[in-house]
Amino acid sequence: MDRPDLTQIVMDLHSDIPLDIVVRRQHGERQVFRNRHYTRLWTSGTRVMVAALWTEPEYRDTSGIRLMQQLTSLLADVRECSDVVQLVTNRDELESALASRKVALCLAVEGMTFVETWPLSDLSPCSQPGGLSEDGLLREKYDQSMALLEAVGSRDAILVWGDANALATGPDPLSGKMQENKGLTSFGRFVVKDLESRGMVVDISHLDDESADGVLESTSGCVIASHSNARALCDVPRNLPDRHIRAIGQRGGIVGINAYAGFLTGNEAAVDNFVDHIVHVANLIGTNGVGFGFDFLDYLDESPSHLVTQGLEGVHDVPRLLERMQQRGFTDVEIDQIAYQNALRIMF
Ligand SMILES: [Zn+2]
Repeated sequence: MDRPDLTQIVMDLHSDIPLDIVVRRQHGERQVFRNRHYTRLWTSGTRVMVAALWTEPEYRDTSGIRLMQQLTSLLADVRECSDVVQLVTNRDELESALASRKVALCLAVEGMTFVETWPLSDLSPCSQPGGLSEDGLLREKYDQSMALLEAVGSRDAILVWGDANALATGPDPLSGKMQENKGLTSFGRFVVKDLESRGMVVDISHLDDESADGVLESTSGCVIASHSNARALCDVPRNLPDRHIRAIGQRGGIVGINAYAGFLTGNEAAVDNFVDHIVHVANLIGTNGVGFGFDFLDYLDESPSHLVTQGLEGVHDVPRLLERMQQRGFTDVEIDQIAYQNALRIMF
């Protein structure tokens, strides 16, 4: 059997590399993207990534400031490595980045708790006598945070991460425990519509079922799950029930399959388990509804090794995944759809 074309471009719908860059820069490293990430991403074919800004739970009360710190740090690293990486917001920028052998990053937010703690500028109406109501204050914080995120070209938004915030609720990704079960709030409904009006992609990964139902009820537009698997194959709260996979497919959305073993089998996993989830989602909504949202953490100094998927530990294994997909009966056209074209259609 022919090996798949290793020049196949791969787009990862979910990478936490921004946090790695931020933390390493805090410890004094510079040019982290060039020194730690560029070569392995480029040679694996992973040339386009949705780079998620995720504020750590220990910063919950100051998550607005933490998000700004992360953004500043990430942008500084991208600037220092501008010959090998580029932030892109549209198809033209993406194509010019790839033609210059740069990895293209597209920003996303993974959890929007920062809205609650966004530090308002002195120019905001709430600093005026009389101030704003609680709802008005939240709305003002939201508007200011979105102005910044729009300015840097953020393309995708997950409302909550393992928390209950002013928008929605999500299970703890590791324990599966739920903080509360309030679903999508009225403010969350407003945010879904507003994100759409700004042209951002609404992403239901990490939401609990009630919140995901609320998102699907509050819009008839395209919705995705950037890095979630099928609950029919691995019954954990972080994965999607078939009805949510079908709803995503009906709206022209995409499910990015996650390589974390805890969401593939709940225990040990190998590359075939990843392919099993692709097959399941493709059987429900077609091969144009599937992508990769790898969520790799192999580049961390302390990654949770017992839940690393054998044969799919990091981006270096992506060519082997494509080869296995071919052996399992996917055509070259289908592999191109799943590896790249579907995600490209959604994000740009
Ligand atoms: Zn995640």
